[in-house]
Formats: sequence, C-alpha cells, structure tokens
Amino acid sequence: MSTRRPASTEELSAILAEASTSATPVIMVGGGTGLAGATEPDAGEIVISTDHLTQLGAVDPVTAQVTAGAGVTLASLNRHAREAGFEFPLDLGARDSATVGGMAGTNAGGALAWRFGSMRQLVAGVEAVLADGSVIGSLTGLSKDNAGYSLTGLLVGSEGTLAAISALRLSLVPRMDSRATALVKTATIADAVALMAHLRSNCPDLIACDFVHSRALRLSADRIAVRPPLPSEDGWFAVVELGAPSGDLLPQLTSALESANRVVATAIAADADQRAAIWKVRDALTEACDATGNEHKLDIAVPVNRLAELETAIRAAIESTGGSQDDAMIWGHLADGNVHLAPLFGLAGDDQLELKILEAVSELEGSIAAEHGVGRDRLELIGLSRSDAELKAMAAIRKALDPKGILASGRAVPR
Ligand SMILES: Cc1cc2nc3c(=O)[nH]c(=O)nc-3n(C[C@H](O)[C@H](O)[C@H](O)COP(=O)(O)OP(=O)(O)OC[C@H]3O[C@@H](n4cnc5c(N)ncnc54)[C@H](O)[C@@H]3O)c2cc1C
Repeated sequence: MSTRRPASTEELSAILAEASTSATPVIMVGGGTGLAGATEPDAGEIVISTDHLTQLGAVDPVTAQVTAGAGVTLASLNRHAREAGFEFPLDLGARDSATVGGMAGTNAGGALAWRFGSMRQLVAGVEAVLADGSVIGSLTGLSKDNAGYSLTGLLVGSEGTLAAISALRLSLVPRMDSRATALVKTATIADAVALMAHLRSNCPDLIACDFVHSRALRLSADRIAVRPPLPSEDGWFAVVELGAPSGDLLPQLTSALESANRVVATAIAADADQRAAIWKVRDALTEACDATGNEHKLDIAVPVNRLAELETAIRAAIESTGGSQDDAMIWGHLADGNVHLAPLFGLAGDDQLELKILEAVSELEGSIAAEHGVGRDRLELIGLSRSDAELKAMAAIRKALDPKGILASGRAVPR
C-alpha cells in the first residue's frame, strides 16, 4: 500500500493516469469517518488522500455558493461560510474530520437533510477525475443545466467507484443565527412520529427532528458526563431544532409543543449552553457505542409511517437471536425514517441478527444503506434493496467509466 497526496486536480489526474496504465487499484480517502468500511485499504492498493486538496474559494453572495477542494472539512467549510453570513446546511457529528469529498462520496445526510436535502441536493457541481486520468465536470454552479445526463448527480453517492472528486461547488443558505432547541419525550416511536408531523405543520422554521431511544440517550450522556435536561427513563426522545437568520423562535416552538398531543415531557433550551448540551448528547452516540467495543452499526431507512413496524421487527429479531433488548441502541433522523442501530451484544459477530433485521427492512420497502453508503459492509446484502436489473445497470455504468476496475474495488456496487 502507498499513500499519495495530490494538491491539485492536475496532480490527481496524473496519479490516476499512472494507476490506470499499471492497472493498480486505488481508493479515495477523505476524513476516514465513513461507517461502511470503505476506506480500509487492501494490500497493493494506492490510497489517495485528499488532505492537500483544501482550497476554499470566496463565498459568492449572489449565487449563495462556494467552491471547495474535496479535502475541506465540514467544520472549516462552515467557519468560512459563516464569516460571509452564510452556512452549509448539512450537519453531522463527525464535522471536524469529515470532508466534503467524502460526504459527496457517501451522499451524506445528517440531522438537517429532511429540510435542506442530502449532499446530492446541495452539490451544485463537481470537478472529478475518471479512472484514466481525464477530468470531467463543472464548477459553474448552474442551477438549470439539462444538457445530457447529470454527471454531478451520478458521482454524488458513488463512493469513489466512478471517479475521484477533486473539487465541489456547494450551495449555501443564509446563516441561521437564531435557534430554538428542545428535548421532547414521548412514550412510543409512533408518538414521536406524530410529534414530528405536528411540528412540521406548525413550525415553518423547523430544521431538525432527530430521535433517540432512552437507553442510547443514557449510554451517550454517561460517556460524555453530560446530564440531559429530562430524566432518561424508558421512552423516546426527540431532539427538535428551529433555525432562522433572525427573530425569536421560542414562541413558535413553545406554542407548537403546547398544542402537541401524546408528549410526556418537554425541556426547551433556555440558552446556548443548554442547547449545546442537548446536541452534545445527540452527537456523542456513535462514539459512545464504539467505546463499548462494538463499532458495527446498521444504517437503515423505512417510510416514516412504518417506523413503529420496524421497531417491532427489530425487537422480534433480537428476541429470536437471544439478545438483550436492554443493549439495543437505537437513534436516527425522524423525518427521514432513518434509523441507526447498534445492538451492543452483537451484530458485528452475529450475521443472523443483521440479516433478519435487513430482511425486515426490505419487506417494509426500506433501504439497507440509508446515509452511510454501502462500502464493504453492506455489499453482499445490496440485493435486499436493489433488483437484479438495477444492479446490472449499475455494474454497466461502473464498467463504462472504469473498464479496468481500478476504482474502489470490492466496495459499494457489484461489478
Ligand atoms: C460520529 C459520527 C457521526 C456521523 N454522523 C453521520 C450522519 O449523521 N450522517 C451521515 O450521512 N454520515 C454520518 N457519519 C458518517 C461519515 O461522517 C460520513 O459518511 C462522511 O460522509 C464521510 O466523510 P469522510 O471525509 O470521512 O469520508 P471517508 O470516510 O474518507 O470516505 C467515505 C467514502 O467516500 C469516498 N471518497 C472520499 N473522498 C472522495 C473523493 N474525493 N472522491 C470520491 N470518493 C471519495 C471513499 O472512498 C469512501 O467510499 C458519521 C460518522 C461519525 C464518525
């Protein structure tokens, strides 16, 4: 294995042209925070790190767009955008390390995705290098451009199998300086879904509505020694946030929560510290599960109105494989029907449990790879979410763009 660190599109192009000539496999690595096992290199693979592709252009206030090198982290992009009065409306716990290239690779989502879209909606253009070294794409950021296929749309979410992204044109929104945040408890997941629908109808400024089961909330809060503002007895907790450029959002949030049914308890953050505490507990979930020694998680999605059925199926699968319900950590993004699951007793070593849950997801017409990508971890099971004809079409695209099969071999999509 060797690591290369291009600092420009030209250097990236030269590395790929050379790899193509010698038919040497390569993988792209951004922050390495991906959760689908994609960036672990095989012997003989060239690792192309984007950590020198960190150019950031000036924010264009007219288009509300910015051009960023693939290796720019989410946190530095947002610092840069904020200085100009804008922000990039996608957030995730790995913000300090995750790069915009990697986020485009996985079509990352996160807490704000239901409102502003995942990466595919936020990437206005890419510049990328094909397996043979040729450069494609555009960073002009045209919002209307139907001259042929959308190569940007194709490359976002392709997990480095079709091209190496060197730079991106990204859409921004005006900086949301005003926020109102609450932790809301409901008895069941169906009640949490009803709460989300109520808030969506009554809060025009709603930007996030995540959910956490009480056991996961306790694990995370204990890990970082932060006390959540509500007692974490059994139930479901919604992390709710409103955001807007200005104005007091508390009356909007308070009145919507007062008129919500089936709410057990509510804690509205009174200041920035309380708001940060709620998000800290939410953001530490992945790390808290990893700290138990089980780094394997499921990232699944079902239609939102089937979340309760999914919970029943998860519990039944755990029961039938002899696991403990107490050790099932469940959280996710409510409005997207996107669930993260880490049963701390298994999954990593329990293929039976994983298969049962993913089969249930398939029966519920969901996705076995919602926002973290397929990587290596879910490659064998991709047929639960895609038909044979779809997989054939994907393999044909892959072969057309990378005939020698040097890009991200053994990951994301069967060849
Ligand atoms: C604490 C924590 C919280 C997280 N929360 C979320 C969340 O809420 N939502 C979410 O979607 N994800 C989440 N993730 C997962 C992860 O942060 C995302 O998948 C992110 O998109 C990965 O970015 P990265 O730069 O680390 O990519 P990497 O892990 O380096 O790579 C990810 C994939 O993209 C490919 N790739 C990388 N760079 C390029 C490039 N320049 N061109 C083409 N392909 C490339 C890689 O080959 C790989 O397949 C979380 C991870 C952690 C650790």
